[in-house]
Amino acid sequence: MNAAKIVIGNWKMHGSWARLREFADLLRHEKLGCQAALCVPFPLLGAAQAALQATPLRWGAQDCSTEVEGAYTGEVSAHMIREAGARYVLVGHSDRRRRHRETDGLVAVKARRALAAGLTPVVCVGETADERDLHQTESVLRSQLRELVRALDRDIAHALVAYVPVWAVGRGDAATPGLIDEALDFIERTLAFHGRASAGAVRLLYGGSVQPGNAEALLSRRRVDGVLVGAASLRVHEFADICRAAARCMH
Ligand code: PGA
Repeated sequence: MNAAKIVIGNWKMHGSWARLREFADLLRHEKLGCQAALCVPFPLLGAAQAALQATPLRWGAQDCSTEVEGAYTGEVSAHMIREAGARYVLVGHSDRRRRHRETDGLVAVKARRALAAGLTPVVCVGETADERDLHQTESVLRSQLRELVRALDRDIAHALVAYVPVWAVGRGDAATPGLIDEALDFIERTLAFHGRASAGAVRLLYGGSVQPGNAEALLSRRRVDGVLVGAASLRVHEFADICRAAARCMH
């Protein structure tokens, strides 16, 4: 396979118009050699559309509603996100699973809404430090994926699944390549086992403390189709360096 690697930035609750313009100014004339996008807070979606349109960068949101339309104060539908020109939406990030008690079932519905609206859902899965210490990584991943497969069926092949171990987020230390390989292998086998996607059909990302210094080592793993980048995606030079590493690692 000769597919471009994927670099998705997750700005979380950071960023501004000015920062988007900074990205646009630096990256307007870059040939990125990878698929790159920034997932920004909702109020910045319009700004992202205006600033990034003429760049190789795409944009996305960090969550969407389980509903299509209606009396859901404060919620934003996948269709609205798509209308802002977005291509991606994160669903099931651990920040949301933890702070908003999002369940696997709810995350699966969001992913389905995203696909129906023409967005690519980036479905985040991964265990906490306690779960890892109790050797529960596989059972956690299995149950996170079960609902997803049930909700998306064969359309799972149009989603991206990101392994983002909660203990590796915002630490400075990414999971080791060996651990990532094991987890991605397990995810791939689980998806294939459910019979919805042949092995290798779903593109898999890794997230958690991805930085310019470790990006190439992570992205050069055969299983790693791309990375989800938090803190480093806010710094334009670091994000650009990660994109360049991705381009060097094209499968
Ligand atoms: P980090 O965040 O790169 O800052 O560790 C990753 C994420 O939470 O998406």
